[in-house]
Amino acid sequence: DDTRILQLEVTHYGQDEALVIVRDITRLHKLEQMRRDFVANVSHELRTPLTVIAGYLETLEASGQAPQGWQRPLTQMREQTARMTSLVNDLLLLARLETSERDSGRERVAVGELIGRVAREARSFSGGRHEISVDCQGDTTITGDANELHSAFANLALNAVKYSPDGGPIQLRWRVDENGGHFSVTDSGIGIDPIHIPRLTERFYRVDAGRSRESGGTGLGLAIVKHVLLRHSAELSISSVPGRGSTFTLHFPAQKLESTTST
Ligand code: ADP
Repeated sequence: DDTRILQLEVTHYGQDEALVIVRDITRLHKLEQMRRDFVANVSHELRTPLTVIAGYLETLEASGQAPQGWQRPLTQMREQTARMTSLVNDLLLLARLETSERDSGRERVAVGELIGRVAREARSFSGGRHEISVDCQGDTTITGDANELHSAFANLALNAVKYSPDGGPIQLRWRVDENGGHFSVTDSGIGIDPIHIPRLTERFYRVDAGRSRESGGTGLGLAIVKHVLLRHSAELSISSVPGRGSTFTLHFPAQKLESTTST
């Protein structure tokens, strides 16, 4: 269709003068749309073959019929297939989140239950190497999409485990005040140099690609978090001291919250 997409930039000069620049960004917008569709299609098409390969590898490994000396290569093939599967799933999720920037579902998601579930997942991922505690104030619900909120909360908690190689405490916290609700994950892991912080939510941006890959990271986690937040009018803040640890906080506006505490 012929719809044009225009971008306006207004600069004011003193009281009664302004410069208005109108940019026609229709082409740019279409290209961006094509890029998103392409990534979503490729990811979708890769899912079936990956499922088949993973299935046969698992069967072969479990059967004990693998040729002499093939146990290790088989294990590696299975692990790499799992990596590719999570990459493809993350790309697909990200493409879906990007297609509509605003307002996701209208479910009422119980924060206490969500954080409890995320803590259990983080504990199982940690395999007992970290002490993971929960400090959750009040009974609150967030209006939004339960799956999306779960992936945002879980991403932060799993990152805290991944980037605390020496174990150590991790705290999941929920607080409500006059500005809204705040979910924070604090670790005492490797921390992040401040110069990297503004770029962490970019796709595939990693401070240390080797370490990220080793721990099963795809480099898409925080990009997914960012897009989930956009769709919930929420924001991310990061504070970190290299060598000491990091705190990642999600801020939800008060109008997305409801208190369910019965008095
Ligand atoms: P990845 O899959 O690589 O973990 P993310 O998008 O989740 O991708 O994170 C991007 C990068 O941010 C990571 O590669 C890592 O360098 C850094 N990072 C994220 N969380 C933490 C944390 N809790 N402590 C230190 N670094 C972190």
